[in-house]
Amino acid sequence: MTVQTPIASAAAEAGEVLNALGVADVLWTGGARAVRSPITGETMAHVHDASVADVTAAVEAAHTAFLAWRNVPAPRRGELVRLFGEELRAAKADLGALVTLEAGKVTSEALGEVQEMIDICDFAVGVSRQLYGLTIATERPDHRMMETWHPLGVVGVISAFNFPVAVWCWNAALALICGDTCVWKPSEKTPLTALAVQALFERAVARFGDAPASLSAVVIGAREVGEALVDHPKVPLVSATGSTAMGRAVGPRLARRFARALLELGGNNAAIVAPTADLDLAIRGVAFAAMGTAGQRCTTLRRLFVHESVYDAFLPRLKAAYASVKVGDPREAGVLVGPLIDQAALMGMQRALEDARQAGGQVHGGGAVDLAQGCYARPALVEMPAQADVVKRETFAPILYVMRYRDLDAAIALQNDVPQGLSSSIFTNDMREAELFISARGSDCGIANVNIGPSGAEIGGAFGGEKETGGGRESGSDSWKAYMRRATNTLNYGKTLPLAQGVTFDV
Ligand code: NAD
Repeated sequence: MTVQTPIASAAAEAGEVLNALGVADVLWTGGARAVRSPITGETMAHVHDASVADVTAAVEAAHTAFLAWRNVPAPRRGELVRLFGEELRAAKADLGALVTLEAGKVTSEALGEVQEMIDICDFAVGVSRQLYGLTIATERPDHRMMETWHPLGVVGVISAFNFPVAVWCWNAALALICGDTCVWKPSEKTPLTALAVQALFERAVARFGDAPASLSAVVIGAREVGEALVDHPKVPLVSATGSTAMGRAVGPRLARRFARALLELGGNNAAIVAPTADLDLAIRGVAFAAMGTAGQRCTTLRRLFVHESVYDAFLPRLKAAYASVKVGDPREAGVLVGPLIDQAALMGMQRALEDARQAGGQVHGGGAVDLAQGCYARPALVEMPAQADVVKRETFAPILYVMRYRDLDAAIALQNDVPQGLSSSIFTNDMREAELFISARGSDCGIANVNIGPSGAEIGGAFGGEKETGGGRESGSDSWKAYMRRATNTLNYGKTLPLAQGVTFDV
């Protein structure tokens, strides 16, 4: 156990930042839910949980707002998102600081998360002029067939602690330009950032002028509050981000009432370091993907397959990178790995390392770091003889399992041989290997990269994964379609009524 110097209070700073962001005191004081900073373990605030009746009221209000908002032209709806993006730009430093205090992200990653919100706002503003449908050739003379896209209704957003603000924004920015309204249940571990985002959103609404009230609301609480949102008949779509266990509960519940689910669940992401890989680049890519955000990204690199011809050259360098990273207060310059979110996460990490040892793994690092009351650990590198059960499950902590491979097809098969299917990558300078990896018989993940790690996606592409990752896609590309309903329209401008498929029905 490494003992380091004590660190500055998080609670005092949280109060200042919440005030700067315009979050009313009444929202973060006097409630029953204590909000702790993973940096020091201090209580920063006491927020108020929503009751089921509060959720119902929020959905009803958002539904009423939807009935008006759907009539506002989409580019005008985009103007609200543009104004919100401006608020985010102005508040970037403060909101980033709050992300650090509440989720424990190092400053540059916390600012990156706010930047991601700004980016998706910019993207959504453009899409607000691009909500297009196809015109399709019809078999009937003097007819036209086309599809139109209409607003859907109230979108429920359930989010995880590790991207406390960006994931909501991926959903909300698109939902709002699509003519929908939102009710957001943030992680019970990160409600303060949600309250701050709501305050910034309200500033944008005030500047917009004539927006209906209740376009977006926050309901705080744990599972029961999420369930109330999932069960509400006036919520046609729930976008839920979190563990596979959560998706397993939420998916069938939504299916029961035929509501749409957009599921963004756990990952167990891999990278392959091939014989021709640029090892300098691979070291950097692997180090960030595996240790960044203290291993708490859905896209964190958790499994590494290194070709036997480069294993002995690569591993010592990777171990050196692991030994060199500074673990500590994420507010401090030079720190690359902050705390885990809580004690349970730290214990889960230690349990997984023990299971790995039992399965023949050789563990380097991974010990707890005693730093104030936060939950810090050194990232762990585990050399595994095979892909044991512990490797196949997602442990939300900085553990990288490393395995040797000889044959690329076998490595790809191992990579795909896990329940999850979020992100993947290969480091190679062999064009055939790169193309194979991203081909139909290559990676089975929603994200497959070449010569970059599996984490740190940008908003322009559709984000999400297959299998137990849930199949949802959000953010860029044509993800906006998830937030709208499609109508197929056939118009007859002739004077006869030809039926499709040559059917006759003369009356
Ligand atoms: P979690 O599943 O514990 O909680 C996520 C959210 O779901 C929280 O708001 C929680 O209150 C809510 N929730 C839990 N059970 C629920 C239920 N039965 N009904 C309704 N709501 C419920 O996840 P976490 O620990 O906050 O986040 C880490 C997990 O999220 C990891 O598995 C990670 O891979 C995943 N994640 C996935 C993505 C993605 O885009 N695929 C992004 C971020 C995080």
